[in-house]
Parts: sequence; C-alpha cells; structure tokens
Amino acid sequence: MNKNMLIICLLGAALLVFPTAGAAADEPLVQKALEWHEGVLTVDTHCDTPFKLLEKGWDIGQLHKTAERGSGCQDLPRMKQGGLDASFFAVFVAQGPRTPEGRARAKDKAVAILDALDAMVVTYPDLCGRALTPNDALRLEKEGKRAIFIGMENGYPIGLDPALIDYFFQRGVRYVTLAHTSDNDICDSSTDRRDPEDRGLSEWGKQVVRRLNDLGMMVDVSHISDRSFFDVLALSRAPVIASHSCARALSDSPRNLSDEMLLALKKNGGVIQLCILDDYIKPPPPNPEREKAFAALWKKIDETYGGWGGVKDKADRERLEAEYAAIDARHPQPPVFVKDAVDHIDHIVKRIGIDHVGIGTDFDGGGGLADCRDVTELKNITVELVRRGYSREQVAKIWGGNIMRVMQRVIDLAKK
Ligand SMILES: [Zn+2]
Repeated sequence: MNKNMLIICLLGAALLVFPTAGAAADEPLVQKALEWHEGVLTVDTHCDTPFKLLEKGWDIGQLHKTAERGSGCQDLPRMKQGGLDASFFAVFVAQGPRTPEGRARAKDKAVAILDALDAMVVTYPDLCGRALTPNDALRLEKEGKRAIFIGMENGYPIGLDPALIDYFFQRGVRYVTLAHTSDNDICDSSTDRRDPEDRGLSEWGKQVVRRLNDLGMMVDVSHISDRSFFDVLALSRAPVIASHSCARALSDSPRNLSDEMLLALKKNGGVIQLCILDDYIKPPPPNPEREKAFAALWKKIDETYGGWGGVKDKADRERLEAEYAAIDARHPQPPVFVKDAVDHIDHIVKRIGIDHVGIGTDFDGGGGLADCRDVTELKNITVELVRRGYSREQVAKIWGGNIMRVMQRVIDLAKK
C-alpha cells in the first residue's frame, strides 16, 4: 500500500472509462469466461477494506457505485456482483515507534479492527460469514455468502509478546505479513528508505515464524526484504505465501519477487498472489511535477493532521480528496490494464508453473487497474486468462485452488 494509491481508492477516482473486455467479437469467449468465473472458487488474499469499516457513514452492507467518490473498491453486494467468493480482510497497522507504548497502541488498533470485523459478520449474517479454513470458504460459497478471512498486515501489533500470536490466532487471523513499509522487530522491510541495510529476520522474528507454523497460520512474505524472505524460507517448515506481490523481472520494484525468489517459493510449495496495483505491475515513467505536487500535499496533511488517518472531519476529507483529484488530473499517469497484470501471471507460470500463483488485489489499499477499478470488474482478469488460452482447471487454480491448497497444508502441518 502506498499513500497516493490509497487515496485513489478512497476517491474511487476513475475519471476515464476504458472499454471493458466485452467487445462483440469476443462474445462467446467472454460468455465462457463469465461462466468459469462464477463456477470456480474465487479468493482474493489481500484487501484493505477494513479501514473503510472504521469510516463514519460508510456501510459495507450497502451497494456503492463503481468509481463514485468515496465508494471504495468493494462492499458485500458488489463482491457478490463481481463473483468474488472469499477475501482476506487485512488488519493493517502502520509501523510506528518500536517502544512499549508504540507496540501497545498498535495492539489496541488491531483489536479495534478485529472488533469491527466481528461486528460486520454479526450485522450481515445473510451476506457473509467468517472463514477460518478452506472448507469454510467452500461451505459459504454454497450458501451464496461471502467468506471473510482475516490476515494481519504488519506483525507490529504482536509486539514482543509470544502470547499475542496465539491471541490473534484465536481472533481469527490466519496469516501475518511479517513487516510493512518499514523495518520492525520481526524483520527488515523491502522499502525502508531511512535504513536501507538489510539484516533479514531477527531472533524474535524466528520465534514468530516458528509459532505461526505451530499454530497453522500462514507466513506472508510480501513487503519483507530479500534477505528476510530467504531467512523465512530457510526456517519455515510450512509453505509460505506472498499475499500481494508481482514479478520483479517485469517490474523492478523491491516489493516484487525476483526469479530467484520465485524458484525458492516453488521449492517451498508456496504461492505468490499477484497484486493488481499499477505501480507494481508497470513502473510509472518519471513525473517530477506530479511527485512534487503530491509531496507538498502529503507534507501538509502530515503537518496538519499527523497523516491521512488523522483527517476525521468529513468536510476536510472531501476538500483534500478534491485537491488530490486536481493534482491527478493535472499530472496524469499512463493507465495500466488487466493485460499488463496477466503478463505477470504468464511470466510466473512460465518460471515456476501453474501451481504457485494466485491473486491478491490490494483493493482499498491502492489496488485497481484502469479496466479493473473495483471488485465488480475482477471478471476482466478471467476474460484475459481465457483469451490467452488458460484452461478451466488452470483458471480455478489461479483464482483459489492454489491458495486454498497452501492454506490447508499449513493447517495440516500445525502442531496438534
Ligand atoms: Zn501492502
């Protein structure tokens, strides 16, 4: 997740409408793709929609219009429309000070998000249910309800307390992304500019990975540094996931996995879930005017509100969103499309085979493409896969079969 992209999703700011994949000549192919999309279990391993749950006046049970300001990337009715059966909702806490007070605040914030997620399944029992295992997802799919899994993005709320790993497991968390954009107590991040040295997994981090293995929780290697990645793979006795990352060979971002990392992941039996975030799919061309304008806006928000999270007033938020939209319109980025994302899937399949790739959208955390702006347009990915000749069985693996296989394996390897 990065700040600019976060706001794009907040705005639902798709000012341009691109042709969707349904051109008339493609009609039989599109029809087949839509049937497959409905027929297979579709799983998204990463969205930041929980932060919308904490937003006043936004209701996940209500249908919001695609690309309307403030609509976000998904709600339960749109997930149904988009044929998304299961999604891992992220308990995300930004990295703060590594002090007892900082860690306690992070834990409190994680608990507040977990409470909101509990309230959601209680409020909308006809629309969704909590999922803890692959079987739960299959059962909820049959009942026509969205399966809501929980992942924790950033192990910061665990602090240095092993008992908290067990606590979060009991609260339903089924994967932990060890770090976010900065180094933490567990391991180093791939994007910590203030401290570029890569020390990998710490001694405490080793304890965390072992405990996650023992409990049957998935270890998520997205966001962590290369050395942390290899340290985790050397240690973990269960397969791991990259819940939202792309292929570095196609887009040279530290957030993406190199071919060497992909091969190690295959050996580990794990899976990389493609992140449909445009900057990771295709690096944007240099745009210093845009960067300067956004840097000034973020500086103002940081100084006035202590970050976007501090903008509580609705009028303030709308004014800042309008400023964001104006900068975006003045210095636009070239659009990135579903076909660019599927190029990454092709690359990964060519390198490590069909059994190690899936999809983690990062919706409401910056994810979304010109022709996949929200959950209702996820079908366009299936259309593109079918267009490129993927079989129904392969589409089923990409959309959920692979990640559910890994999750079940992790559960089976837990210490009973
Ligand atoms: Zn992320």
